[in-house]
Amino acid sequence: MLSVEQALERLLSAAQPVTDVESVDTMLAAGRVLATEVVSSIDVPPLDNSQMDGYAVRTVDIPDVPTTLRISQRIAAGQVGVALEPGTAARIFTGAPIPAGADAVIMQEKCDAVGDKVTLNEQPPRGEAIRKAGIDIARGDVVLKPGVRLKPQHCALAASVGTARLTVYRRLRVATFFTGDELVMPGEPLPPGRIYNSNRFMLRGLLESLGCEVNDLGIVPDDLQTTRDALTSAASRADLIVSSGGVSVGEEDHVKPAVQAEGTLDLWQIAMKPGKPLAFGHVRGVPFIGLPGNPVSSFVTFVLFARPFILRRQGRSEPLRTLALRADFDWRQSSRRREFMRARLNDNGGLDIFPNQNSSVLTSVTWADGLIDNPSEHLIHTGDIVRFLPLAELQS
Ligand code: AMP
Ligand code: MG
Repeated sequence: MLSVEQALERLLSAAQPVTDVESVDTMLAAGRVLATEVVSSIDVPPLDNSQMDGYAVRTVDIPDVPTTLRISQRIAAGQVGVALEPGTAARIFTGAPIPAGADAVIMQEKCDAVGDKVTLNEQPPRGEAIRKAGIDIARGDVVLKPGVRLKPQHCALAASVGTARLTVYRRLRVATFFTGDELVMPGEPLPPGRIYNSNRFMLRGLLESLGCEVNDLGIVPDDLQTTRDALTSAASRADLIVSSGGVSVGEEDHVKPAVQAEGTLDLWQIAMKPGKPLAFGHVRGVPFIGLPGNPVSSFVTFVLFARPFILRRQGRSEPLRTLALRADFDWRQSSRRREFMRARLNDNGGLDIFPNQNSSVLTSVTWADGLIDNPSEHLIHTGDIVRFLPLAELQS
């Protein structure tokens, strides 16, 4: 048996990043992986500006309070005023540039304006309510680095420095198929002995959440030739093939011989629970990952193995962040294999565990918001600190 780390290391050493890039509108770039850095050619904000609606003043003009000054100009956002006449105040609005000479803004709630006069009821410190030029970004700053998967806020940051287009890696094309004579699609009646193909819905969503382009070949019966045909068809149109089921070594498991006939294959037994078997190989030069059929095993092996493989190939470089959290339960069944247990955060900041950890119980995955990574032969007592992998991290 391989350890989780050994399997991951082997997998990642075979993951070649896609090198093709394309230019996309910044507005449409969320979810894509940035390929070149974004450097700012401006300061953000470009000028000192007001943080409030109020009055821009020179603090030397307010020796004590209350002080009444003449309002000598009005500056709205988008306008540029003139130098502030000494002994006067400028009416100013949020985001408007601070006029030369002014060194503070007093919020309007602390002022009484009558006609062209304003009475200031507070002595502001210098710099009050002024956002200095460049506090967010300075000209020449690298605002985004390659390898980041762009969230809306990254696109906004690029836009804030005036970048209209971004260079991103092309999307990874992933072909999928689902082996099993027992599989039926929702919408069809369920004959005795058959089950619905839930993995197809899971895998599609998982891949799309990672920004992959999915080419779904559907259900493949448990038959060697059909499985071989599915593999070659998948290889002709994808950067990666992911299948579900058929990777055990029963006589109805045809994935192994089919991949061997069309390419090369390693069948790994990984010392983990759920999801012991995982197949990895190449078909006509295209990497192949065979996930186990049990839905929970399929999910867990996807997020722990297929996902990092995909990230590497997408050019992504973020590390997986895990949390150290308190277990609010006892776990008394030690396992010889490292376990990834479905758990979720409770209102007290600790973790609860789903009562049924069987690898066929898909409900556990919908209930959970993370996996506890529990070492082999390790019992958990209430109050222990455990390693928690949030699904929010694992599914994006
Ligand atoms: P296998 O890995 O093919 O031996 O399948 C292991 C278990 O997972 C069996 O109980 C299968 O019926 C079930 N299974 C296989 N494929 C799927 C699927 N696509 N959706 C739901 N369950 C599946
Ligand atoms: Mg099967």
